[in-house]
This record gives sequence, structure tokens and C-alpha cells, in this order.
Amino acid sequence: MHADILDEAAEREQQLIEIALANRPKPVMTFTGICHWCNEPIDKGHFCSDECRTDHERMVWAERQRSVA
Ligand SMILES: [Zn+2]
Repeated sequence: MHADILDEAAEREQQLIEIALANRPKPVMTFTGICHWCNEPIDKGHFCSDECRTDHERMVWAERQRSVA
């Protein structure tokens, strides 16, 4: 009984975290012609590759966590 309630609470908490991550505001960026992460020249968007986008998002996320804590 108790274990079920704890499992349910943990599951709900995990869902809330996922929703928060999905809804977090995207950093506002202007087009500069270079990748925001590695400074490669690009034609459109803000990153030259998905890797750069992911690395940049992780950095922004980590920075935000630090400023909150
Ligand atoms: Zn890049």
C-alpha cells in the first residue's frame, strides 16, 4: 500500500519534471551567421549541427540552474 503511493508520487514528480523541461523557454537569439556554440559560419538558424545545439542548450540549462540555486 505504502509502496504503491510512493511509486505513484515518484511517477507524478517525474512527469512534472518532463513537462517543465519541455516547456522551458527557449533562449532568445538573433541570427548572426555563425554557430552560437563553435562559431562556424552558417546560412540559417543558430547552430551548425545538432551537437552544437544540444551542447549549447545544456550549457544554458546548467547556467540557469546555477543562478536559481
Ligand atoms: Zn557549431
